[in-house]
Amino acid sequence: MDLHIKAMETGRIIIISAPSGCGKSTIINSLLDRGEIDMQFSVSATNRSPRQGERHGVNYYFLTDAEFQDSIAAGEFVEYEEVYPGRYYGTLRREVSRITDAGHNVVLDVDVKGGVRVKELYGSDAVSIFIAPPCVEALRARLEGRGTESAEQIDQRVGRAQYELSFAPQFDHTVINDDLAQAVREVEQIIKKFISRK
Ligand code: ADP
Ligand code: 5GP
Repeated sequence: MDLHIKAMETGRIIIISAPSGCGKSTIINSLLDRGEIDMQFSVSATNRSPRQGERHGVNYYFLTDAEFQDSIAAGEFVEYEEVYPGRYYGTLRREVSRITDAGHNVVLDVDVKGGVRVKELYGSDAVSIFIAPPCVEALRARLEGRGTESAEQIDQRVGRAQYELSFAPQFDHTVINDDLAQAVREVEQIIKKFISRK
């Protein structure tokens, strides 16, 4: 009987936030590849252009400026942020409910303000995890190594990172991503503990 009730429950919300370049995507993809945790990725909407290799509906729903504004006006977002000037990112209600209504946990890769907002909205149905870099210099080196932004964009992201790091105390957990394998293990443990506390 107990098992039956659990199977009918909806999934829960796992929020992963960090300044850009701290390794959120790498950690999330590693956890999804390991497949030890029943969770699916919530594909966000954005009006930025796809990077090489990124696909619509897989990495993001890539919208035009007008489409993004229409989605805001139609109340389609759980939350959205103008993370960089003119560059919007948002979590779609239908994306989260599609996954949780099917009984799966959902993992959100959102900026720090979005992370705080989603946690406020979902309370104890959500766990929020802040991924921090070992230091700002390491962050710059990783962004340079990733090679997906111009020098100017890297300066912008590193500058913003200093501000974003001040949000860490508002999260349930902070994990420092120095050794990647260890950071993945720590995040996995936090999530396993959270979802076992249904
Ligand atoms: P985010 O999604 O937070 O913007 P990414 O996951 O794209 O960051 O990581 C940024 C870059 O840093 C990538 O090139 C990734 O391979 C690299 N990276 C991630 N974690 C580590 C780590 N622990 N040590 C060294 N490089 C890392
Ligand atoms: P990127 O351009 O590197 O893919 O993402 C830039 C930033 O936007 C990252 O911090 C990422 O977590 C954030 N982001 C991605 N999707 C969302 C979203 O739906 N909402 C919010 N608030 N931030 C998002």
